[in-house]
Amino acid sequence: MTTSVLDRFFRYVTFDTRSDERSSSVPSTPGQIVLLQQLVDELRAIGLSDASMSPHGVVMATIPATTTRADTPTIGFLAHVDTSPEMPGANVTPIVHHAYDGRDLVLPDDPSAVLRLGEQPALRDCLGHDIVTASGTTLLGADDKAGVAAIMAAAEYLMAHPEIPHGIVRIAFTPDEEIGKGTAHFDVAAFGARYAYTLDGGDRGCIECESFSADAMTVTFQGFNTHPGYGKGRLVNAIKVAADFIDRLPKDRLSPETTDGYDGYVHPYVMDASVERTSVKLLVRDFRTEGLKEKEALLDTLARGVADRWPGASVETAIQESYRNMREVLDQHPAAVEHAKTAIRCAGIEPRTRLIRGGTDGARLSFMGLPTPNLFTGQHNFHSRLEWVSIQDMAKAAEVIVHLCRVWEEQASSWGPAKAGPYEVPSADVPPFQSCKLQSS
Ligand SMILES: [Zn+2]
Repeated sequence: MTTSVLDRFFRYVTFDTRSDERSSSVPSTPGQIVLLQQLVDELRAIGLSDASMSPHGVVMATIPATTTRADTPTIGFLAHVDTSPEMPGANVTPIVHHAYDGRDLVLPDDPSAVLRLGEQPALRDCLGHDIVTASGTTLLGADDKAGVAAIMAAAEYLMAHPEIPHGIVRIAFTPDEEIGKGTAHFDVAAFGARYAYTLDGGDRGCIECESFSADAMTVTFQGFNTHPGYGKGRLVNAIKVAADFIDRLPKDRLSPETTDGYDGYVHPYVMDASVERTSVKLLVRDFRTEGLKEKEALLDTLARGVADRWPGASVETAIQESYRNMREVLDQHPAAVEHAKTAIRCAGIEPRTRLIRGGTDGARLSFMGLPTPNLFTGQHNFHSRLEWVSIQDMAKAAEVIVHLCRVWEEQASSWGPAKAGPYEVPSADVPPFQSCKLQSS
Protein backbone atom coordinates (compact mmCIF):
# COMPACT_ATOMS: atom_id res chain seq x y z
CA MET A 1 0.00 0.00 0.00
CA THR A 2 2.97 2.34 0.50
CA THR A 3 3.20 3.22 -3.20
CA SER A 4 -0.51 3.91 -3.45
CA VAL A 5 -0.48 6.10 -0.31
CA LEU A 6 2.52 8.08 -1.51
CA ASP A 7 1.30 8.58 -5.10
CA ARG A 8 -2.05 9.73 -3.82
CA PHE A 9 -0.59 12.02 -1.18
CA PHE A 10 1.68 13.72 -3.71
CA ARG A 11 -1.29 14.22 -6.01
CA TYR A 12 -3.63 15.59 -3.34
CA VAL A 13 -1.23 18.16 -1.89
CA THR A 14 -1.01 19.91 -5.25
CA PHE A 15 -4.68 20.95 -4.92
CA ASP A 16 -5.14 24.33 -3.24
CA THR A 17 -7.84 23.54 -0.68
CA ARG A 18 -7.24 26.29 1.87
CA SER A 19 -10.53 27.03 3.62
CA ASP A 20 -11.74 30.56 4.38
CA GLU A 21 -13.71 31.47 7.49
CA ARG A 22 -14.90 34.78 5.96
CA SER A 23 -16.55 33.03 3.03
CA SER A 24 -20.29 32.42 3.09
CA SER A 25 -20.27 29.72 0.41
CA VAL A 26 -20.30 26.00 1.18
CA PRO A 27 -17.66 24.66 0.87
CA SER A 28 -15.94 27.91 1.74
CA THR A 29 -13.51 27.78 -1.22
CA PRO A 30 -13.89 26.37 -4.78
CA GLY A 31 -10.56 24.52 -4.68
CA GLN A 32 -12.01 22.07 -2.17
CA ILE A 33 -14.74 21.09 -4.65
CA VAL A 34 -12.11 20.34 -7.28
CA LEU A 35 -10.33 17.87 -4.98
CA LEU A 36 -13.59 16.40 -3.68
CA GLN A 37 -14.74 15.75 -7.26
CA GLN A 38 -11.37 14.19 -8.03
CA LEU A 39 -11.87 11.87 -5.04
CA VAL A 40 -15.33 10.88 -6.31
CA ASP A 41 -13.74 9.96 -9.66
CA GLU A 42 -10.94 8.00 -7.98
CA LEU A 43 -13.34 6.15 -5.68
CA ARG A 44 -15.42 5.11 -8.71
CA ALA A 45 -12.26 4.06 -10.55
CA ILE A 46 -11.38 1.60 -7.78
CA GLY A 47 -14.90 0.19 -7.78
CA LEU A 48 -16.87 2.21 -5.21
CA SER A 49 -19.64 2.79 -7.72
CA ASP A 50 -21.95 4.77 -5.43
CA ALA A 51 -19.38 7.50 -4.74
CA SER A 52 -21.00 10.92 -4.87
CA MET A 53 -20.71 14.45 -3.53
CA SER A 54 -23.57 16.22 -1.76
CA PRO A 55 -24.50 19.83 -2.67
CA HIS A 56 -22.54 20.88 0.44
CA GLY A 57 -19.38 19.14 -0.68
CA VAL A 58 -19.49 15.99 1.45
CA VAL A 59 -18.24 12.94 -0.46
CA MET A 60 -19.58 9.54 0.60
CA ALA A 61 -18.95 6.07 -0.81
CA THR A 62 -19.40 2.42 0.12
CA ILE A 63 -17.09 -0.56 0.14
CA PRO A 64 -19.55 -3.47 -0.04
CA ALA A 65 -19.39 -6.17 2.64
CA THR A 66 -17.43 -9.34 1.94
CA THR A 67 -18.71 -11.20 4.99
CA THR A 68 -21.91 -13.15 5.39
CA ARG A 69 -22.08 -12.35 9.09
CA ALA A 70 -25.05 -10.06 9.26
CA ASP A 71 -24.11 -8.91 12.77
CA THR A 72 -21.03 -7.08 11.52
CA PRO A 73 -21.67 -3.38 12.10
CA THR A 74 -21.11 -0.82 9.38
CA ILE A 75 -18.05 1.25 10.18
CA GLY A 76 -16.84 4.45 8.58
CA PHE A 77 -13.62 6.37 7.93
CA LEU A 78 -13.42 10.13 7.48
CA ALA A 79 -10.83 12.73 6.56
CA HIS A 80 -11.03 16.41 5.67
CA VAL A 81 -9.73 17.88 2.42
CA ASP A 82 -9.27 21.51 3.46
CA THR A 83 -6.06 23.03 4.81
CA SER A 84 -5.67 25.72 7.44
CA PRO A 85 -6.64 29.29 6.47
CA GLU A 86 -3.68 30.49 8.57
CA MET A 87 -1.06 29.48 6.00
CA PRO A 88 -0.67 29.57 2.19
CA GLY A 89 -1.71 26.28 0.62
CA ALA A 90 -1.26 26.98 -3.10
CA ASN A 91 1.66 25.71 -5.19
CA VAL A 92 2.75 23.21 -2.56
CA THR A 93 5.97 21.46 -3.59
CA PRO A 94 6.37 18.25 -1.59
CA ILE A 95 9.94 17.11 -1.01
CA VAL A 96 10.99 13.63 0.10
CA HIS A 97 13.95 13.46 2.45
CA HIS A 98 14.97 9.82 2.07
CA ALA A 99 16.20 7.67 4.96
CA TYR A 100 16.18 10.39 7.58
CA ASP A 101 19.29 10.08 9.74
CA GLY A 102 18.90 13.00 12.15
CA ARG A 103 20.39 15.61 9.80
CA ASP A 104 18.94 19.13 9.61
CA LEU A 105 16.23 19.27 6.95
CA VAL A 106 16.61 22.63 5.24
CA LEU A 107 13.62 23.66 3.13
CA PRO A 108 14.98 25.04 -0.16
CA ASP A 109 12.64 27.97 -0.80
CA ASP A 110 13.45 29.51 2.59
CA PRO A 111 16.76 28.41 4.12
CA SER A 112 15.63 29.80 7.49
CA ALA A 113 12.98 27.06 7.59
CA VAL A 114 14.85 24.12 9.09
CA LEU A 115 13.60 20.97 10.81
CA ARG A 116 16.06 20.08 13.55
CA LEU A 117 16.04 16.85 15.51
CA GLY A 118 16.66 18.73 18.76
CA GLU A 119 13.55 20.89 18.28
CA GLN A 120 11.24 18.17 16.96
CA PRO A 121 11.00 15.26 19.40
CA ALA A 122 8.68 13.37 17.01
CA LEU A 123 11.48 13.18 14.42
CA ARG A 124 13.42 10.90 16.77
CA ASP A 125 10.68 8.28 16.33
CA CYS A 126 11.12 8.50 12.55
CA LEU A 127 14.84 7.86 12.13
CA GLY A 128 15.28 5.79 8.99
CA HIS A 129 11.91 6.92 7.61
CA ASP A 130 11.31 8.89 4.44
CA ILE A 131 10.11 12.32 5.55
CA VAL A 132 7.99 14.59 3.34
CA THR A 133 8.04 18.35 3.85
CA ALA A 134 6.94 21.34 1.79
CA SER A 135 9.55 23.65 0.27
CA GLY A 136 9.54 26.36 2.95
CA THR A 137 6.93 28.93 1.93
CA THR A 138 3.69 26.97 2.25
CA LEU A 139 2.21 24.38 4.55
CA LEU A 140 2.39 20.79 3.31
CA GLY A 141 -1.25 19.84 3.74
CA ALA A 142 -0.55 16.51 5.43
CA ASP A 143 -3.31 17.79 7.72
CA ASP A 144 -5.35 16.12 6.47
CA LYS A 145 -4.35 14.84 3.04
CA ALA A 146 -2.32 12.16 4.84
CA GLY A 147 -5.68 10.94 6.16
CA VAL A 148 -7.32 11.17 2.74
CA ALA A 149 -4.46 9.24 1.12
CA ALA A 150 -4.48 6.55 3.82
CA ILE A 151 -8.23 5.99 3.46
CA MET A 152 -8.06 5.91 -0.34
CA ALA A 153 -5.17 3.43 -0.34
CA ALA A 154 -6.96 1.20 2.18
CA ALA A 155 -10.15 1.31 0.09
CA GLU A 156 -8.20 0.35 -3.01
CA TYR A 157 -6.57 -2.53 -1.11
CA LEU A 158 -9.86 -3.82 0.29
CA MET A 159 -11.50 -3.71 -3.16
CA ALA A 160 -8.57 -5.66 -4.61
CA HIS A 161 -8.69 -8.26 -1.80
CA PRO A 162 -12.27 -9.48 -1.46
CA GLU A 163 -10.94 -12.48 0.47
CA ILE A 164 -10.50 -10.19 3.49
CA PRO A 165 -13.74 -10.53 5.46
CA HIS A 166 -15.34 -7.25 6.51
CA GLY A 167 -18.75 -5.66 6.86
CA ILE A 168 -20.01 -2.63 4.98
CA VAL A 169 -17.39 0.11 5.11
CA ARG A 170 -18.39 3.71 4.52
CA ILE A 171 -16.01 6.44 3.48
CA ALA A 172 -16.47 10.20 3.74
CA PHE A 173 -14.39 13.20 2.80
CA THR A 174 -15.46 16.55 4.20
CA PRO A 175 -14.68 20.23 3.57
CA ASP A 176 -14.06 23.11 5.99
CA GLU A 177 -12.90 21.22 9.08
CA GLU A 178 -10.27 23.89 9.76
CA ILE A 179 -12.92 26.58 10.08
CA GLY A 180 -15.05 24.47 12.41
CA LYS A 181 -17.70 23.58 9.84
CA GLY A 182 -16.63 20.07 8.91
CA THR A 183 -19.76 18.47 10.32
CA ALA A 184 -22.21 21.31 9.66
CA HIS A 185 -23.63 19.52 6.63
CA PHE A 186 -22.70 15.96 7.51
CA ASP A 187 -25.72 13.66 7.32
CA VAL A 188 -25.06 10.99 9.97
CA ALA A 189 -28.16 9.02 9.00
CA ALA A 190 -27.20 8.98 5.32
CA PHE A 191 -23.69 7.88 6.27
CA GLY A 192 -25.30 4.96 8.04
CA ALA A 193 -22.30 3.80 10.08
CA ARG A 194 -22.51 2.59 13.68
CA TYR A 195 -18.94 3.66 14.47
CA ALA A 196 -16.44 5.77 12.62
CA TYR A 197 -12.85 6.95 12.75
CA THR A 198 -11.35 10.22 11.66
CA LEU A 199 -7.85 9.80 10.20
CA ASP A 200 -6.46 13.14 11.34
CA GLY A 201 -3.99 12.40 14.14
CA GLY A 202 -0.22 12.62 14.47
CA ASP A 203 2.20 10.24 16.14
CA ARG A 204 2.39 6.63 14.96
CA GLY A 205 0.10 4.40 17.02
CA CYS A 206 -1.93 7.17 18.64
CA ILE A 207 -5.67 6.99 19.22
CA GLU A 208 -7.31 10.19 20.41
CA CYS A 209 -10.54 9.51 22.24
CA GLU A 210 -10.74 12.45 24.57
CA SER A 211 -11.19 16.11 23.67
CA PHE A 212 -11.97 19.28 25.54
CA SER A 213 -15.51 20.22 26.35
CA ALA A 214 -15.76 23.68 24.91
CA ASP A 215 -17.96 26.76 25.09
CA ALA A 216 -17.56 30.33 23.92
CA MET A 217 -18.61 33.06 26.34
CA THR A 218 -19.36 36.64 25.35
CA VAL A 219 -19.14 39.28 28.11
CA THR A 220 -20.63 42.59 27.01
CA PHE A 221 -20.12 45.75 29.07
CA GLN A 222 -22.51 48.63 28.52
CA GLY A 223 -21.18 52.11 29.24
CA PHE A 224 -22.41 55.57 28.37
CA ASN A 225 -20.89 57.65 25.59
CA THR A 226 -21.04 61.41 25.39
CA HIS A 227 -18.66 64.13 24.15
CA PRO A 228 -15.55 63.59 26.28
CA GLY A 229 -15.10 67.36 26.64
CA TYR A 230 -18.35 67.39 28.61
CA GLY A 231 -18.11 63.90 30.06
CA LYS A 232 -17.43 64.80 33.68
CA GLY A 233 -19.65 62.77 35.95
CA ARG A 234 -21.57 61.32 33.00
CA LEU A 235 -19.31 59.40 30.66
CA VAL A 236 -18.90 55.67 31.40
CA ASN A 237 -16.17 54.13 29.23
CA ALA A 238 -17.01 50.48 28.50
CA ILE A 239 -13.47 49.93 27.15
CA LYS A 240 -12.02 50.74 30.58
CA VAL A 241 -14.54 48.47 32.30
CA ALA A 242 -13.64 45.61 29.93
CA ALA A 243 -9.93 46.25 30.50
CA ASP A 244 -10.51 46.02 34.25
CA PHE A 245 -12.29 42.69 33.70
CA ILE A 246 -9.45 41.29 31.58
CA ASP A 247 -6.89 42.49 34.12
CA ARG A 248 -8.67 40.50 36.83
CA LEU A 249 -8.66 37.20 34.92
CA PRO A 250 -6.49 34.58 36.67
CA LYS A 251 -2.89 35.00 35.54
CA ASP A 252 -1.07 32.09 37.17
CA ARG A 253 -3.73 29.46 36.48
CA LEU A 254 -6.74 28.77 34.20
CA SER A 255 -4.95 30.35 31.24
CA PRO A 256 -3.55 28.73 28.09
CA GLU A 257 -0.14 30.15 29.00
CA THR A 258 -0.04 28.24 32.31
CA THR A 259 -1.92 24.99 31.69
CA ASP A 260 -1.40 21.65 29.97
CA GLY A 261 -2.48 18.03 30.34
CA TYR A 262 -5.93 17.78 31.87
CA ASP A 263 -6.13 21.42 33.01
CA GLY A 264 -8.68 23.66 31.34
CA TYR A 265 -8.57 27.40 30.81
CA VAL A 266 -10.43 30.61 30.00
CA HIS A 267 -9.00 32.63 27.13
CA PRO A 268 -10.09 36.06 25.88
CA TYR A 269 -9.48 36.02 22.13
CA VAL A 270 -11.59 38.72 20.47
CA MET A 271 -12.63 42.16 21.66
CA ASP A 272 -15.10 44.48 19.99
CA ALA A 273 -14.53 47.79 21.68
CA SER A 274 -16.24 51.16 21.84
CA VAL A 275 -16.91 53.61 24.67
CA GLU A 276 -20.62 52.85 24.62
CA ARG A 277 -20.35 49.09 24.43
CA THR A 278 -17.46 46.64 24.58
CA SER A 279 -17.71 42.90 24.26
CA VAL A 280 -15.04 40.35 25.06
CA LYS A 281 -15.21 36.85 23.63
CA LEU A 282 -13.64 34.08 25.66
CA LEU A 283 -12.93 30.46 24.97
CA VAL A 284 -13.82 28.24 27.91
CA ARG A 285 -12.20 24.80 27.96
CA ASP A 286 -12.28 21.85 30.37
CA PHE A 287 -12.18 18.08 29.98
CA ARG A 288 -15.18 17.83 32.29
CA THR A 289 -18.38 19.52 31.19
CA GLU A 290 -18.99 20.22 34.90
CA GLY A 291 -15.67 22.05 35.05
CA LEU A 292 -16.84 24.18 32.15
CA LYS A 293 -19.83 25.32 34.19
CA GLU A 294 -17.55 26.20 37.13
CA LYS A 295 -15.33 28.35 34.91
CA GLU A 296 -18.33 30.09 33.39
CA ALA A 297 -19.72 30.84 36.85
CA LEU A 298 -16.34 32.28 37.82
CA LEU A 299 -16.28 34.54 34.75
CA ASP A 300 -19.85 35.64 35.34
CA THR A 301 -19.13 36.56 38.98
CA LEU A 302 -15.96 38.38 37.98
CA ALA A 303 -17.75 40.36 35.24
CA ARG A 304 -20.58 41.40 37.56
CA GLY A 305 -18.14 42.38 40.29
CA VAL A 306 -16.27 44.62 37.84
CA ALA A 307 -19.45 46.22 36.52
CA ASP A 308 -20.45 47.02 40.13
CA ARG A 309 -17.18 48.87 40.66
CA TRP A 310 -17.89 51.21 37.72
CA PRO A 311 -20.98 53.35 38.49
CA GLY A 312 -23.30 53.48 35.51
CA ALA A 313 -21.88 50.39 33.85
CA SER A 314 -23.75 47.15 33.35
CA VAL A 315 -22.86 43.74 31.97
CA GLU A 316 -24.49 40.86 30.13
CA THR A 317 -23.00 37.42 29.55
CA ALA A 318 -23.96 34.82 26.97
CA ILE A 319 -22.70 31.27 26.52
CA GLN A 320 -22.55 29.38 23.27
CA GLU A 321 -21.88 25.65 23.28
CA SER A 322 -19.03 24.64 20.97
CA TYR A 323 -18.45 20.91 21.48
CA ARG A 324 -18.21 18.31 24.23
CA ASN A 325 -15.57 15.80 25.31
CA MET A 326 -16.14 12.82 23.02
CA ARG A 327 -15.06 10.50 25.82
CA GLU A 328 -18.52 11.00 27.34
CA VAL A 329 -19.83 9.13 24.27
CA LEU A 330 -16.92 6.78 23.62
CA ASP A 331 -17.04 5.43 27.19
CA GLN A 332 -20.43 4.02 26.20
CA HIS A 333 -18.86 2.26 23.22
CA PRO A 334 -15.57 0.73 24.38
CA ALA A 335 -15.39 -1.49 21.31
CA ALA A 336 -14.68 1.52 19.10
CA VAL A 337 -11.40 2.22 20.91
CA GLU A 338 -10.52 -1.38 21.82
CA HIS A 339 -10.80 -2.54 18.22
CA ALA A 340 -8.63 0.37 17.10
CA LYS A 341 -5.99 -0.72 19.63
CA THR A 342 -6.18 -4.28 18.31
CA ALA A 343 -5.84 -3.12 14.71
CA ILE A 344 -2.82 -0.96 15.58
CA ARG A 345 -1.16 -3.94 17.30
CA CYS A 346 -1.86 -6.00 14.18
CA ALA A 347 0.12 -3.41 12.24
CA GLY A 348 3.05 -4.07 14.57
CA ILE A 349 2.72 -0.89 16.62
CA GLU A 350 2.01 -0.42 20.33
CA PRO A 351 -1.15 1.71 20.57
CA ARG A 352 -1.23 4.81 22.75
CA THR A 353 -4.32 6.74 23.75
CA ARG A 354 -3.96 10.47 23.98
CA LEU A 355 -6.10 13.45 24.79
CA ILE A 356 -6.63 16.36 22.45
CA ARG A 357 -6.40 19.84 23.92
CA GLY A 358 -8.86 20.95 21.29
CA GLY A 359 -11.76 19.48 19.36
CA THR A 360 -12.12 17.30 16.30
CA ASP A 361 -14.90 16.59 13.87
CA GLY A 362 -15.05 13.26 15.66
CA ALA A 363 -16.01 15.00 18.91
CA ARG A 364 -18.96 16.63 17.18
CA LEU A 365 -19.92 13.45 15.32
CA SER A 366 -19.83 11.46 18.55
CA PHE A 367 -22.52 13.73 19.97
CA MET A 368 -24.46 13.51 16.69
CA GLY A 369 -24.83 9.77 17.35
CA LEU A 370 -21.72 8.47 15.58
CA PRO A 371 -18.95 7.49 18.05
CA THR A 372 -15.75 8.63 16.27
CA PRO A 373 -12.26 8.41 17.77
CA ASN A 374 -9.33 9.94 15.90
CA LEU A 375 -6.46 7.81 14.54
CA PHE A 376 -2.87 8.67 13.68
CA THR A 377 -1.70 9.44 10.14
CA GLY A 378 1.95 10.40 10.76
CA GLN A 379 1.40 14.16 10.25
CA HIS A 380 3.27 16.68 12.41
CA ASN A 381 3.58 20.47 12.86
CA PHE A 382 0.19 21.08 11.31
CA HIS A 383 -0.67 24.65 10.20
CA SER A 384 3.05 25.41 9.81
CA ARG A 385 5.65 25.84 7.10
CA LEU A 386 7.53 23.13 8.98
CA GLU A 387 4.70 20.61 8.56
CA TRP A 388 5.99 17.11 7.82
CA VAL A 389 4.81 13.54 7.49
CA SER A 390 6.50 10.14 7.57
CA ILE A 391 5.71 8.04 4.50
CA GLN A 392 6.10 4.85 6.52
CA ASP A 393 3.65 6.05 9.18
CA MET A 394 1.12 7.15 6.55
CA ALA A 395 1.30 3.65 5.05
CA LYS A 396 0.87 2.15 8.54
CA ALA A 397 -2.29 4.23 8.96
CA ALA A 398 -3.67 2.66 5.77
CA GLU A 399 -2.75 -0.78 7.09
CA VAL A 400 -4.54 -0.05 10.38
CA ILE A 401 -7.71 0.81 8.45
CA VAL A 402 -7.63 -2.56 6.69
CA HIS A 403 -7.04 -4.38 9.99
CA LEU A 404 -9.87 -2.45 11.64
CA CYS A 405 -12.31 -3.65 9.01
CA ARG A 406 -11.21 -7.23 9.68
CA VAL A 407 -11.30 -6.85 13.46
CA TRP A 408 -14.86 -5.54 13.48
CA GLU A 409 -15.94 -8.52 11.38
CA GLU A 410 -14.04 -11.05 13.47
CA GLN A 411 -15.35 -9.61 16.72
CA ALA A 412 -18.87 -8.91 15.50
CA SER A 413 -20.80 -11.56 17.35
CA SER A 414 -18.70 -11.10 20.50
CA TRP A 415 -20.12 -7.64 20.88
CA GLY A 416 -23.72 -8.62 20.39
CA PRO A 417 -26.02 -7.99 17.47
CA ALA A 418 -26.13 -4.63 15.83
CA LYS A 419 -29.02 -2.57 17.10
CA ALA A 420 -30.01 1.03 17.18
CA GLY A 421 -29.07 3.38 19.99
CA PRO A 422 -26.24 3.21 22.51
CA TYR A 423 -25.46 -0.18 23.94
CA GLU A 424 -22.96 -0.91 26.64
CA VAL A 425 -20.23 -3.49 26.61
CA PRO A 426 -17.96 -4.03 29.63
CA SER A 427 -14.47 -3.08 28.49
CA ALA A 428 -12.87 -5.81 30.61
CA ASP A 429 -14.47 -8.42 28.36
CA VAL A 430 -12.63 -7.51 25.19
CA PRO A 431 -12.10 -10.84 23.43
CA PRO A 432 -8.62 -11.46 22.08
CA PHE A 433 -8.18 -10.89 18.39
CA GLN A 434 -7.66 -14.18 16.59
CA SER A 435 -5.20 -13.40 13.88
CA CYS A 436 -3.12 -10.49 12.70
CA LYS A 437 -2.29 -11.76 9.25
CA LEU A 438 -2.40 -9.29 6.43
CA GLN A 439 -0.56 -9.57 3.16
CA SER A 440 1.87 -6.74 2.83
CA SER A 441 1.89 -5.01 -0.49
ZN1 LIG B 1 -6.90 18.11 10.50
